[in-house]
Amino acid sequence: MFISLIGTDNRIQPNAIIFISNGKAAKRGVPVMVHAHGDEGARAAVRAGAKSIEHGTFLTEETLKLMKAKGTYLVPTFITLEDLTQPGGDYFGPVLELRGKFMMPQAEKVFRKAEELGVKIVTGADNGYSALTTSRISLECQHYVRMGMTPFEAIQAATVVAAELLGIEKTTGRIQPGYEADLILIPGNPLEEIRYLQDVLMVISNGTVALKRIPFGLPEK
Ligand SMILES: [Zn+2]
Repeated sequence: MFISLIGTDNRIQPNAIIFISNGKAAKRGVPVMVHAHGDEGARAAVRAGAKSIEHGTFLTEETLKLMKAKGTYLVPTFITLEDLTQPGGDYFGPVLELRGKFMMPQAEKVFRKAEELGVKIVTGADNGYSALTTSRISLECQHYVRMGMTPFEAIQAATVVAAELLGIEKTTGRIQPGYEADLILIPGNPLEEIRYLQDVLMVISNGTVALKRIPFGLPEK
């Protein structure tokens, strides 16, 4: 179980911080993730022991250093900011478009600094991930590679590091005997071309085939 809080708004921030550090969440050992674009709310959440900061669009170097020191994860949700700027998807409107265009370069700066400082980064989409959603984890990985990660690191951000953040690293997130077989089949080597992640031919969830489109996806021999 995870508790998700919104920490950007400083009107709700004090209650949120008490909730994380002294309240039920801390007593029961329930991890708390905090959605915060602003630096002040995010820093307070990091200090209070939040396990991750979602968005972190305006994080300062000081807060990122604190995150590195405390082991707080950053979930940049770059695709969601991009979704704000484009028609359709989960979010769209003239004001959101303006906001998204302003936020994307900020978020990129934060990402690059977080990478440089060694803050742990995990992919996330910040939406319902429905059929109409355009914010795909595969696209988030593409952004990470564009912004300086190796394809291998981007895939780790979506798998092994993500499992670690969610506390399920002993059962999934890597391919290893005894682990749940959570696998996807794609048509090429994503270490050579990260875009292959977008073309999922088969999904195996805990050993069960959940999606199979191989007859259409691969050329016949
Ligand atoms: Zn959010």
